[in-house]
Amino acid sequence: MNEAVVRRAAVLVAEAQRIVVLTGAGISTDSGIPDFRGPNGLWTRDPDAEKASDIRFYLADADLRRRAWARRAAGTLWATVAPNAGHRALVSLETNGKLDVLVTQNVDELHQLAGSDPARVIEIHGTTRKAACLDCGTRWPMEKILDRVRAGEDDPRCEECDGIVKSATVSFGQSLVAADLLAAEEATRRCDLLLAVGTSLQVYPVNNLVPLASQAGAQVVIVNAEPTPMDQYAAAIVRGSISEVLPMIVGAEGGTE
Ligand code: NAD
Ligand code: ZN
Repeated sequence: MNEAVVRRAAVLVAEAQRIVVLTGAGISTDSGIPDFRGPNGLWTRDPDAEKASDIRFYLADADLRRRAWARRAAGTLWATVAPNAGHRALVSLETNGKLDVLVTQNVDELHQLAGSDPARVIEIHGTTRKAACLDCGTRWPMEKILDRVRAGEDDPRCEECDGIVKSATVSFGQSLVAADLLAAEEATRRCDLLLAVGTSLQVYPVNNLVPLASQAGAQVVIVNAEPTPMDQYAAAIVRGSISEVLPMIVGAEGGTE
């Protein structure tokens, strides 16, 4: 960790009044949720899971859906995960009155579990803690659908319209919720600092928030272990472990614990 860069990032945050934070899978790896494409990534280890997250395959292939539901019903994966010091650091940024909007690409709801105000969180890629009907849009808590799977329904259908049910995430081939993207862009245009945390900034259109902030005159701070295609826009790039450095950058007490 480069302490001078951490200090520089901390000064930029201290000087900012209206911050938009953009988070990705990297803020949750210290909670035990692997990212998708890293060496230990979910998709690296299980290509079938990657296929299931493409809406075209999911709609067309009932066997793929059955395997996806079986995997989910068997997994206790996200039942036991808890927020880490990185998520908590962003809560203290909000307590300090500096956080305007928190845009997350994560689908784990750990920001809300940490105490971030749900009204300020934009889940731009949805959430796996809920399920939704692809036809009529009815939503349920994920556990409710998983109970049906465990009781023997291997491809549960919507009770209202018999439509195909999927986790309430934005899969490949699905569009983002227009209102969410608009809200994220509007917040980004009016922020004075964009803090990007734990995202490889490779997924369009969310990664475009970085140049958008820069063009609107905001400072950009990037906290990520690896280089990103948007590093050119950043006034400070911090490469340390997020749960260690983020509390320092936002001036939160405690650090990793
Ligand atoms: P990504 O996997 O493309 O990038 C994550 C980045 O975080 C990597 O560059 C990695 O180097 C960095 N990183 C990982 N752990 C870190 C740590 N402890 N400290 C510092 N840096 C760390 O993730 P992305 O940009 O969010 O895009 C992938 C897509 O995958 C997103 O759309 C997201 O919806 C989805 N996803 C979500 C979750 C989740 O909800 N927790 C998990 C996996 C994937
Ligand atoms: Zn329906």
